[in-house]
Amino acid sequence: MDVLTFMMTVMNEMAARTSNQRIAELPVVDLPRVARAVREILLAIGEDPDREGLEETPARVARAYRELVRGSREDAGSHLRKVFAEGGDEIVVVRGIELYSLCEHHMLPFTGVAHVAYLPADGRVVGLSKIARTVDTFARRLQVQERLTRQIADAMVEHLSPRGVSVVVECEHACMRMRGVAKHGASMTTVAHRGAFGGDAALRSEVMALLDRGGR
Ligand SMILES: [Zn+2]
Repeated sequence: MDVLTFMMTVMNEMAARTSNQRIAELPVVDLPRVARAVREILLAIGEDPDREGLEETPARVARAYRELVRGSREDAGSHLRKVFAEGGDEIVVVRGIELYSLCEHHMLPFTGVAHVAYLPADGRVVGLSKIARTVDTFARRLQVQERLTRQIADAMVEHLSPRGVSVVVECEHACMRMRGVAKHGASMTTVAHRGAFGGDAALRSEVMALLDRGGR
């Protein structure tokens, strides 16, 4: 196969891939490999990985990581496919969806809540638990809070085509709290607006007031 043919084959293959195929190609978490790496870390920080108390730690950490990045292998949008055309045309607000994620810069947890508001188009709504599952799937992977916020908003747009979506995420980051960069309890807030909530200032303040209500 010459270089050009090879490149065209690769490009065609890339174009043909669906997100599901990409997910299927992700390697499953290699538990023994993670465990070996954790043992290396223990040695590198001057610990004795064979002392009592640490013996099982590499295997335990490996299983914990498998759980923490579980969402990498899930199609987050799959939760939003079951759409009902029974809603009205009022803003729907889901507040306080708990989330647990892992910052990709330090591989330390960040935790908090997501609030989602959307304005249905043609009555298209989705079960509240499905929004929570979507948040969870995007959170259970190496993340940054800004991208997590955008991904939730974009998934809502893709599957519900609502007139507007706003997502607010408030999290505390262990990497900030533990390293003394921020005061204890300092939380970070990220916001993503889509559709009418982005373009219409009056609607945006209405939705932000709804998302703020009872918060903090
Ligand atoms: Zn971090």
